[in-house]
Amino acid sequence: MSHDLATQFEGDLGAVLGSDADHETIAETFQRRTFRGREYFHFPDARHGIDRGVALVGETVVPGFPSIPRTLVVDPGIAGVFEETIYIEEKLNGYNVRIARADGELFAFTRSGYICPFTTSIVRADPFETFLTEFPDLTICGELIGMNNPYTPHEYEEVNGVGIRVFDLRKNGDGTPLSPETRYERCADYDLPEVPRFGTVEPAEAAERVTELIDDLNERGREGVMLKSADGETQLKYTTSATHQADLAHAFSQPFDYGREFLFSRVIREAFQAAERGESAAERRERSQALGEAILLPAIEAVESVEAGERIGDNHEIRGDPTAIESLITQFLSQGLQLDIREDYYDEGERVVKFCKVARSSQDKIEHYLDGGLIDQ
Ligand code: ATP
Ligand code: MG
Repeated sequence: MSHDLATQFEGDLGAVLGSDADHETIAETFQRRTFRGREYFHFPDARHGIDRGVALVGETVVPGFPSIPRTLVVDPGIAGVFEETIYIEEKLNGYNVRIARADGELFAFTRSGYICPFTTSIVRADPFETFLTEFPDLTICGELIGMNNPYTPHEYEEVNGVGIRVFDLRKNGDGTPLSPETRYERCADYDLPEVPRFGTVEPAEAAERVTELIDDLNERGREGVMLKSADGETQLKYTTSATHQADLAHAFSQPFDYGREFLFSRVIREAFQAAERGESAAERRERSQALGEAILLPAIEAVESVEAGERIGDNHEIRGDPTAIESLITQFLSQGLQLDIREDYYDEGERVVKFCKVARSSQDKIEHYLDGGLIDQ
């Protein structure tokens, strides 16, 4: 075991794991990485009672972010989970970011616990710096949203390029969340940008309230709601039809790169939502047609694009500190991603890169079938 990891087991990590944990086995599961010459460790999957994404930097244990359960029906799904007052927040569609302070510096982590150079360069500024100087024992959890990001570009009218919206403050080490009330106060005190919120509701009225909110969010093409208990420990998600269909459209634009489970789960979400709403024959036909178009139109376009000799995949446009952009690209390449760089230039001291993360399986399979390759089905 490396010296740093051994120190961690004697310190906070050891306390989190308890005395029965098999330190040798756990130590072997941690991945050792470096970020700008600094060694750190992260836990890419949930195993041995450790959450996915836990990261160790210096003496700091950055907690993983838990997987949040979903209900397929608002009634009785919500009242079955919550017994008391429910805090309702908007669920934003971007990527999960945890921001923590270690050895006096801020780092931003991806869901699986990599330090992301791009996100780190964004969060090394106020209000995050001031907040984590004041509360070095907390990890800020938020969603990075907006078009100019390297993972999940999605238009949000309220952000210009990129923005972070905080949805959790957790204690380093065991990851205990602060209550929503405390979080709202702290965020307000320190000007941390927050996810939009919709107040509170009692379990008996929650299904009706969530249905109204979902109608409105769906109209506006937004993702959904996140429901939270007063202690912040229990969370539940529910999403809009617009999101299910957008997920399908995206996945079928690169059909061989998404698992069948991803596709199936979105169709099922639509089925339960339509059934619960008791939609009329006309409404369900409209939903079914939209769903069919979300699946087939992008798939046809994918085949045509490959036929026309184009590369298919996710298109991104990022801009920022040149060193951060360089190390992000190096990190992507070392993770085995194939990037097709389309534009690369400097603008007012920032580096701007437009690239496509090539959807390799889809690209290769579509080429193969277009050449007359046979499919075993
Ligand atoms: P998993 O199933 O492991 O949670 P996922 O990334 O597919 O993975 P999502 O369906 O996106 O999960 O839902 C959970 C994610 O929603 C959180 O990890 C977080 O990044 C994001 N999120 C957006 N808004 C909020 C919010 N208000 N509260 C909590 N999480 C939010
Ligand atoms: Mg998400």
